[in-house]
Amino acid sequence: MKKLAVGVSMVTAAIGFVAWGQSPATETAPAAHAYGTENLNAVLWVQTAAEYQAAARQAYVLAEMLLDEALADPTWSAVSEQAGADFADLPTAVILDVDETVLDNSPNQARQVLEDRDFATEPWHAWVREEKANAVPGALAFTRAAADKGIRVFYVTNRRHQVEEPTRRNLAAQGFPIDAAVDTVLTRDEQADWGGDKGSRRAHVAARHRVLLQIGDNLGDFVSGVNVDPAARETLVERHADYWGRKWIVLPNPQYGSWDGALIDFQYGLAREAKRARKLGALETLREDGSE
Ligand SMILES: [Mg+2]
Repeated sequence: MKKLAVGVSMVTAAIGFVAWGQSPATETAPAAHAYGTENLNAVLWVQTAAEYQAAARQAYVLAEMLLDEALADPTWSAVSEQAGADFADLPTAVILDVDETVLDNSPNQARQVLEDRDFATEPWHAWVREEKANAVPGALAFTRAAADKGIRVFYVTNRRHQVEEPTRRNLAAQGFPIDAAVDTVLTRDEQADWGGDKGSRRAHVAARHRVLLQIGDNLGDFVSGVNVDPAARETLVERHADYWGRKWIVLPNPQYGSWDGALIDFQYGLAREAKRARKLGALETLREDGSE
């Protein structure tokens, strides 16, 4: 790790050298802002890559194809915790996450890059209250198709309860179906036992519905206990091998997520340099001598 720290400082010094060497007309950012561009490619991929648009559409086309089979099979449940329960006669539902699953918050990520800052709750809530998030490609067609088939569409989000109303308005303005009869926007802290782990909310929905599909961008949108190291997360994926692409559909999110937290042991308060060093240390080069 010591060797790695030296490497990082050398990279930083090199960036500073290049910046000082440029003419004022072409100089864009001082070396101190090098960390702010760390998410640059990830945000640009979501905002400009045709491949992202295609991947999101592909996920939702697959989801829609699965709906009829799921509807016709009374033994089908997409909630792994529901296995063995008596759910055949319950009304049907699908569970979707909100952020980076049905709503695209990449403009907020772009602001973080341009303003050289990390995630913080206050500017995040300010963005949510702007109600400007656009629909993720394919999400609108899928949720409307589900609602048209009489399937209840639940949005289980880790947005806090205090921003539920602007979230509902943003979803409605984009055209997402929101059930008039029951609360289908289930926010974090809305009930005492609804924490960041979505298991209790999955259970809430599954107690009253047969859940046909779960759709999300984060491992925690499907299973509990995801705040563990990358190897243990991989084990969770393998343990549920029968669900992926069949009952669980994952959207790509290279910008943030529990995958990112796992690289820093979920110590989000670490200094940027420390986070970056841990991430560099997680890179795999397959060099036989183990050097970077
Ligand atoms: Mg999400």
